[in-house]
Amino acid sequence: MSGNAATTANEIHDLNEARQTSEATHEVNAPAREPSSIDALFEIGQELPKTGETIDDIRADIGDCTRCPLYTGRTQVVHSTGNLHAELMFVGEAPGADEDAQGFPFVGRAGQLLTKIIESIGFKREDVFIGNINRCRPPGNRQPTLPEAHTCRPFLLREIAVVRPRVIVVMGNTAMHNLLDTKVGITKMRGHFQDYFGVKVMPTFHPAFLLRDPHKKREVWEDMKMVRDYLKSVK
Ligand code: URA
Repeated sequence: MSGNAATTANEIHDLNEARQTSEATHEVNAPAREPSSIDALFEIGQELPKTGETIDDIRADIGDCTRCPLYTGRTQVVHSTGNLHAELMFVGEAPGADEDAQGFPFVGRAGQLLTKIIESIGFKREDVFIGNINRCRPPGNRQPTLPEAHTCRPFLLREIAVVRPRVIVVMGNTAMHNLLDTKVGITKMRGHFQDYFGVKVMPTFHPAFLLRDPHKKREVWEDMKMVRDYLKSVK
C-alpha cells in the first residue's frame, strides 16, 4: 500500500469511529454502513476505491458538524460544489468571509480569480468540481491547524472517490500538504504532476497568493497549460 493509501485508510477508520461516537451522542443523520467497508476499499491498491456512496451520503454524514473547533465560528458548513462528473477538480484551503456568508467555496476575490484561471484553459466554472480541505471558516482566515485539517479532509477524499476526476489542481501549501502528505513547499512542487490513487494532481499557487503577488500568475498559467494538455491527451 502506498503512503497515501495507508494514511487514507487510517483516516477513514478514524472517521468511522468518530461517526459512531457522534451518532451515539448527536443523532447524526448518516446512512447505515459497515464500519470497516470504506477502509477495506481504500486498502485495495493504487486506484481510487469504489465506495458506493453518493455526495448526498457524505453531506448527510457531515451533518451539522462539531468534530473540530472551527464549528464555533462558522456561519455555515461550506461544501464542495460543481459538476459531479467533472474531469477536473480544484482544492483550496478553507472558506473565507465571503464563502462563510454565502455557503459556497471560492466566491470572494480569490474565487473570481479562480474562475478566470478555469476559463483560461477552456472550461466553465460549472464544468469543474471545487472544494476545500476544511469546510468551516477559520477565525481571521488563519490556516487550519493540522488536527482541524485531518478531521475534515476525509470527507474531501471520499468526494474524490465519488467524482473520480482525471486531474486535481491543489492550490497552495495547505491543500497540497493535506492531499499529498508531503511537507515540501509549493514553490518546489508546482508544475510537477503528482499521483493520488491514480489521479493526476497538479500543485500550483493559491489564487489569494496571486492577488498579493500578481507576477506569479505566469507560473500558474504554465501549470494550467500542462493540465489542459494532459486532459486533451486522454480524451
Ligand atoms: N480560499 C480558499 O482556500 N477557499 C475558499 O473557498 C476561498 C478562499
